[in-house]
Amino acid sequence: MRYCSTCGQKLSRRIPPGDHLERYICDDCGAIHYQNPKIVAGCLPLWENKILLCRRAIEPRIGLWTLPAGFMENGESVEQAAQRETLEEALARVEITSFYTMVSLPHINQVHIMFLGNMVDENFGAGEESLEVRLLDPSEIPWKGLAFASIDYTLRRYVEDSRTGVFAPHISCIDRRPTAGGILVL
Ligand SMILES: [Zn+2]
Repeated sequence: MRYCSTCGQKLSRRIPPGDHLERYICDDCGAIHYQNPKIVAGCLPLWENKILLCRRAIEPRIGLWTLPAGFMENGESVEQAAQRETLEEALARVEITSFYTMVSLPHINQVHIMFLGNMVDENFGAGEESLEVRLLDPSEIPWKGLAFASIDYTLRRYVEDSRTGVFAPHISCIDRRPTAGGILVL
């Protein structure tokens, strides 16, 4: 961030009075431009014990598999965002049944929130951001071809929980900053 989105003047970076972190501040109009994590909402859509997975048609990770998920829009709930993303990417309507995983990713300033959802009918297909969409048995999950660590985490918890039938929420932090010492799973 170099220029003020309010007045167009150059920004400097310093700690505002009463704050404790450096921010982008406009010396001309006084605007403080805060930067905060973004929320990605998604769904693990189920139909007769099979999982709906999408193969990505866009970067990043084009060609790899993911659960339908994407950035929340203003004015919607997390559940609505997960349903909307499922409709956009997999052309499938889901009824959200429970909150399932929340993964903090401090190295990219994101929080990924995934829900379990039942497909309301068997209709699905490839949306604009998907190359193909398939209903897969858990034994068919392409573990080496998954797009994101949070998706891998969510699918692994689902396969584990399927053995007991108890799908309680899971909360984790995947921190890949060099100083963090690898992956921390809570
Ligand atoms: Zn300004």
